Amino acid sequence: MILIQGKGVSKGVEKGPIYFFQRHDNTVTKQTVDDLEAEKARLAAAQEQSMQQLADLAEKCRAEAGDESAILFETHAMFVEDDDYVECIQETMEEEHCNAEYAVQVAGEQFAAMFAAMDDAYMRARAADIRDVTQRILNNLMGIVEGGIDSEDPVILCADDLAPSETVQLDKSKILGFVTQGGSGNSHTAILARTMGIPAICGAGSALKAEYSGRTAYIDGETGEMVLDPDDITLAKFRDKHQKQKELKELLQTMKGQEDVTLDGRKMMVYCNIGSPDDVAAVLANDGQGIGLFRSEFLYLAANDYPTEDEQFEAYKTVAAAMDGKRVVIRTLDIGADKQVDYFNLNKEENPAMGLRAIRICLNRPEVFRTQLRALYRASAYGKVAIMFPMITSVWEVKECRRACKSVMDELKAEGIPFNPDTEIGIMIETPASIMMAPELAKLVDFFSVGTNDLTQYTLACDRQCNDLGKFFDPHHPAVLRALKMAADAAHAAGIWIGICGELGADLSLLHTFLAIGIDELSVTPSAVLPLRAEIRKSIAQTCTLELLYNS
Ligand code: PEP
Ligand code: MG
Repeated sequence: MILIQGKGVSKGVEKGPIYFFQRHDNTVTKQTVDDLEAEKARLAAAQEQSMQQLADLAEKCRAEAGDESAILFETHAMFVEDDDYVECIQETMEEEHCNAEYAVQVAGEQFAAMFAAMDDAYMRARAADIRDVTQRILNNLMGIVEGGIDSEDPVILCADDLAPSETVQLDKSKILGFVTQGGSGNSHTAILARTMGIPAICGAGSALKAEYSGRTAYIDGETGEMVLDPDDITLAKFRDKHQKQKELKELLQTMKGQEDVTLDGRKMMVYCNIGSPDDVAAVLANDGQGIGLFRSEFLYLAANDYPTEDEQFEAYKTVAAAMDGKRVVIRTLDIGADKQVDYFNLNKEENPAMGLRAIRICLNRPEVFRTQLRALYRASAYGKVAIMFPMITSVWEVKECRRACKSVMDELKAEGIPFNPDTEIGIMIETPASIMMAPELAKLVDFFSVGTNDLTQYTLACDRQCNDLGKFFDPHHPAVLRALKMAADAAHAAGIWIGICGELGADLSLLHTFLAIGIDELSVTPSAVLPLRAEIRKSIAQTCTLELLYNS
């Protein structure tokens, strides 16, 4: 038996084949080729492979969701064969005697720019399709598997670590669980696993070896154990836990449709955190009462270039409409620190967690901010959208954000584009400065949402990405809990609501403390909604105390 001990960061037990994540260099460089005919044949093969993949996808979509959803892939197939597009690729190859990858990239950029400049909104949105088709042909030329997992069956995905820009590309339907050599409980792989409701282990170190690829692993996301060739006792324990997990899931289903209210009538809003429109399915399946944090930066991380206003609008509108009148809090771009996006060309920083990130980037790049705000306000006409700004430290930042919102609303009004002028505006409380300034900040906004991942990091001076900090990174620290109370008191004095959207919100051992503090909303990973509801419905708010705040 081989036992690999890491840190459990997303609960659950699973069994499956180990698959090591392959990192590919997908940068396209221009190369001169001697044998142009052979290069053209390579291109033709990649085009044919793309056509086959698109036909398969269209067929799958038609079977699962009907004709309409298959149209997208049929349109993509038309682009692959489009005369002008193909001619452009071939001309570049002939004129420059270059490799097919370079010529495809040039044609993709030219055509995407052409569509993006069109007046008609529908045609402008086709720029994204061209980029998608171009990426597909490039992947086939470079032998890169879409979704990153070259396996028919679902796998236990193993890696040294996964960057947010890598996790967004993964084919989630093929993942049973994650195990990484590095990483931490607050890393985005852990957050993704919790959203998907599957087990994850991080910090497995060098004991996790690439040579284990293909072997069957048993993983436990609670204890942090990964086992190969288990002995009889371990196997029996694993099977028992798997069965209990199944039974608990069934029991929790009875919580669906129930109200989030304590025995003495205190209501709590139990919302969900998501990273993409695809995650809404998990929110609905777990009966989340709203979305308390849509991390919009994942749209930027998944793209190779700035997502256009129309692309963003479509994503926000899809989520707002699917939630059907329930509140959807969309956070503006929060990149920098652990979430790096190449095309932003940010300078390398010594200390990125304290550098140019989140709202600081938006306030420094008004055009990027304006594009996102326009998309958000346009989407506000299709549901109950709320806008939230991350990493606030100062009153002037919020005033500047509000000015940007006002200017976007004036533009939309002048253009006759519908939007909700009463769209709620909130801020994240995730820095000690925002706690100190909470009374003043509360007067400027409609709600607070506490990002406890960052608040813990900045309050305790502990890097949230660093796995070695162990007990020093303690979100239960009285300093963090007292900070929460200060923010809640300031919010309530100003008559606004306050929620928690950091990972701590799902920590059942703190629920009574949150009730005593007066937290109004908990936004958690979708799989945590029903366990939280079960606990809320067993609680008596009036008997909850602030004991842990003074437990120093
Ligand atoms: C947080 O900091 O708690 C938070 C919710 O934001 P993120 O984890 O995306 O930084
Ligand atoms: Mg944060």
